[in-house]
Amino acid sequence: MNELLDRQIKQLQKYIDDGIDIVLFGGAGVSTESGIPDFRSATGIFTNNLSAENIISHDYFYYNPKGFYDFYKNKMMYLDAKPNVCHNKLSELEKAGKHITIITQNIDGLHQKAGSTNVIELHGSIHRNFCTNCGASYDAKFIKESKGVPTCPKCGSIIKPDVVLYGEPLREENINKAISALEQADLLIVGGTSLKVYPAASFIHFFKGDKKVYINLENEQLAEDFMYIQSKLGDVFSKIEIHE
Ligand code: NAD
Ligand code: ZN
Repeated sequence: MNELLDRQIKQLQKYIDDGIDIVLFGGAGVSTESGIPDFRSATGIFTNNLSAENIISHDYFYYNPKGFYDFYKNKMMYLDAKPNVCHNKLSELEKAGKHITIITQNIDGLHQKAGSTNVIELHGSIHRNFCTNCGASYDAKFIKESKGVPTCPKCGSIIKPDVVLYGEPLREENINKAISALEQADLLIVGGTSLKVYPAASFIHFFKGDKKVYINLENEQLAEDFMYIQSKLGDVFSKIEIHE
């Protein structure tokens, strides 16, 4: 293994061993190794001259629900995806007694699937869906298997995923939880995020500690006062040991 990476992983291991209150602030890159593409790297999503941001937006949902759902069901709903080593290690650390808060921009539910219990989903989840009229709730399978635009069997209205679409505000409750977790933490690991989606990306500034690690395949320029680990998350987390 490359020497720098080796040294950095050892340092991260020490931070984790010494850490009491750990926050993982993650993005789409946490789930690429589960087979879910991210938005911004070379293999990310971009179709028909419309970016994912244009399609997964509040306006587009109402303007062209069929176009929205075609894209959303195909590119955002990976119901067979399994947690990878990063999701699993975080859950194992929690089980070993660490206080772990996961603040995720992902909507895939994989941290919970891995067993983590303290997950703040800043952008919602594909697993919760509500009728826009009567509020009845539906699971992801119902949406994925629906033909065209999913509508409510009870009242016929369109169903909307509980996902924060571009152009929609974050939930106040999640903002508050994320900020207080960051303020209390003594180790911040930022991973698999281009830090380009606001306001989510701005939250990391609420962390006041000095142990800050950024694990990402690119964007060294954003690392500032972080220890920057340019690597796949899986290659890092597979080396992290759980010490009870
Ligand atoms: P992004 O696509 O903007 O950036 C992902 C970053 O992760 C890139 O910089 C990429 O280089 C890096 N990366 C990719 N795979 C990696 C790996 N294995 N190890 C380390 N780094 C890796 O993602 P974002 O910042 O989360 O913003 C995208 C928005 O789109 C989010 O708000 C999210 O809600 C949504 N989104 C979610 C999912 C999901 O739920 N899995 C997938 C795509 C997009
Ligand atoms: Zn209804």
